[in-house]
Amino acid sequence: MKRHLPLLVFLVALAVSPVMLSEFYVTLLNYIGLYSIVALGLVLLTGVGGLTSFGQAAFVGLGAYATGYLTTAHAVSPWLALLIGLALTAVVALILGFMTLRLSGHYLPLGTIAWGISLYFLFGNLDFLGGHTGLTSIPVLELFGYRLDTGRRFYYIIWIALLGAILATQNLLNSREGRAIRALKGGGLMAEAMGVNTARTKTVIFIIAALFACVSGWLYAHLQRFVNPTPFGLHIGIEYLFMAVVGGAAHVWGALVGAGLITVLKQWLQDILPKIFGQSGNFEVIFFGLMLIIVLQRARDGIWPWLIRVLPSMETGERVVAEAEPLPRRQMPATGAVVLEVKNARKVFGGLVANNNMSLTVKAGEVMALIGPNGAGKSTMFNCISGVAPVTSGEIDFLGQRIETLESREIVRRGMGRTFQHVRLLPTMSVLENVAIGAHLRGSKGVLSASLHLERTEEARLLAEAKRQLERVGLGGHLFDEAGSLPLGQQRLMEIARALCTDPCLLLLDEPAAGLRYLEKQALAELLRKLRGEGMGILLVEHDMDFVMGLADRVVVMEFGEKISEGLPEEVQKDPVVLEAYLGGVE
Ligand code: ADP
Ligand code: MG
Repeated sequence: MKRHLPLLVFLVALAVSPVMLSEFYVTLLNYIGLYSIVALGLVLLTGVGGLTSFGQAAFVGLGAYATGYLTTAHAVSPWLALLIGLALTAVVALILGFMTLRLSGHYLPLGTIAWGISLYFLFGNLDFLGGHTGLTSIPVLELFGYRLDTGRRFYYIIWIALLGAILATQNLLNSREGRAIRALKGGGLMAEAMGVNTARTKTVIFIIAALFACVSGWLYAHLQRFVNPTPFGLHIGIEYLFMAVVGGAAHVWGALVGAGLITVLKQWLQDILPKIFGQSGNFEVIFFGLMLIIVLQRARDGIWPWLIRVLPSMETGERVVAEAEPLPRRQMPATGAVVLEVKNARKVFGGLVANNNMSLTVKAGEVMALIGPNGAGKSTMFNCISGVAPVTSGEIDFLGQRIETLESREIVRRGMGRTFQHVRLLPTMSVLENVAIGAHLRGSKGVLSASLHLERTEEARLLAEAKRQLERVGLGGHLFDEAGSLPLGQQRLMEIARALCTDPCLLLLDEPAAGLRYLEKQALAELLRKLRGEGMGILLVEHDMDFVMGLADRVVVMEFGEKISEGLPEEVQKDPVVLEAYLGGVE
């Protein structure tokens, strides 16, 4: 209850505001609400997903013009116009997303600037949209016969829309799809390797952000009752982004804080700056530019994280993982059956041959160790097998099917789980959530049911699975720690739990024991023996020879990208080629 107190106070204040405040402040709050809806989309897109868009104002325009045109020229009901506007926005966002989301680095923001400007000029140059004068006499919105014809009456619909959007976004972020969205910022390689279709996920958040903007535009058009292109230009798009960044780009409530602060500040600056400078002009733009630089330099996470440290927290998640029915598991291949067969694999990076003529097999129920000096090409072999960096030539069969041309997310779907030599995790997410990403493909509920929180049963099962795997690797006491706060050895164990969440029949472990203490290594060896006993095939890269030799059934030795020896542990240990090449100088 105490946890919800700030929220409760805030909601009561919101509810009584139109009754208590003057027309001026109600109008101000209306605009803050409208801007917040757009900024919320940017929190999802930019703050959480890492995709910067300067073009959001254009989607606001799409919503506003859709209803402006349809209600005035064709006497369509505003509510129907909203649906049509949303459909139109989704289609436009899909097309624009398809064209721009594949752009990387700075090209994406540049792309959003380009379409932001294009849509803006389109609004101003289409005759049926009234050119630069725009459209007037947009009808009053009616709700159950109640005419929303004043700012005071309009207030509630704006704020209910905003609060609904915040709730839906928060629900979404705390779900299977939400974890996939949050994983985008880590670069996407890990997410793909866990089965997430990152291109699809990016498109989804792009469309959601556009739809939020469209709703804001629709509300705006019926509040103002006229539209012209001015509020949908690029500079407003930048302002929206600014609101999200200042508020706290990765937090849903940051959208509201940012929109509130910028709107009030802008109002105030527009009053005061011309008086200071003694002439009229948009001086606030300069001020905002400076402020953005300061925020980006000094407080990248915006105001919200600072605010929740002052207020009792509203964002703490559930601290228990509920019991849930275990997820179904895949059929394991019969022990001894060949699960993986690599034939003449070759991998070239520019002029460097990292793998050449590599062949190996892994059977169900065995631990196969891949060893060799640093730079021998072991991790490259892993990346080729798991589809993270496909082979240049050669063949890879997994469970009797060729996989060398498949994407990593397709390979994990077929039952191959992996860890990374250089740990890939989302440092600010909890250990539990990081591991639950591994179970991505074992759930199916999408964005809509997540937003409405209708996927509770499935979500509980996914989290229970993550917890179960974490307990197996000995991290049951760290479920709610931030993943980034774990020591490196435990982060590796966490990756193993994440890989186990994919329900693999072949497990690829790249140096899992590095950074572990003696007892942790023993526990890990014990776990791997148990998994092997269950019929799992394990391909292991490891430098700790005691660990490898005590565990492996067979060993393949690599040097300079090629296989130099293969056999039982005791055989390769005696092989003169291995002693010469690998153990020779070092031991
Ligand atoms: P190991 O895991 O056995 O230590 P790696 O597979 O990481 O070896 O590296 C094998 C060789 O390939 C090294 O010379 C490394 O520099 C090179 N290499 C690995 N990944 C890449 C890459 N993405 N681009 C270029 N060279 C790479
Ligand atoms: Mg390596």
